[in-house]
Amino acid sequence: MQADPPIAPPSCPCGYALTGLTSRRCPECGATVDLNAVGPTLPFGFTPRRWFLFRFAALASALVGPSAWIVTLGPPWQSHQLYWLLMAPGLPLLILTIPLRRVVSDSITLVAMYVGTILLLMILMRITRRGLRWLIIVALVVLALSSLNSFIAHALYAA
Ligand SMILES: [Zn+2]
Repeated sequence: MQADPPIAPPSCPCGYALTGLTSRRCPECGATVDLNAVGPTLPFGFTPRRWFLFRFAALASALVGPSAWIVTLGPPWQSHQLYWLLMAPGLPLLILTIPLRRVVSDSITLVAMYVGTILLLMILMRITRRGLRWLIIVALVVLALSSLNSFIAHALYAA
């Protein structure tokens, strides 16, 4: 087993790890287990850490992947293109701030795009904790929306 998983695996009061348990009794001490508290069995028999990394990889790809054209701009390749790529999911926030242009400075807008991207990823990670079905649905929706976002961004860039 791995050390220090980012999510503490559900465990019985006796200390036995209950990840993946499907019966209502703790195999270690025989105590009755609330399966709702244990949570669903992790997909593919993943450890909590692997499940976390799997979701992160899937959601980050869906979020940022469609904007990958940004790094193909150039040559020469410039480091700010990487920042654009990381900010791209926050682009809708930029549009929201257009009416506020007179009161919101550009740097605040850029920070909002970063923070928006990070917050969005955190929320998506939380929603998809419940299982593979949630991850697939959420990742597909994110992929569709970020493709649209990327398409608009590309149109704005080309204009
Ligand atoms: Zn127990």
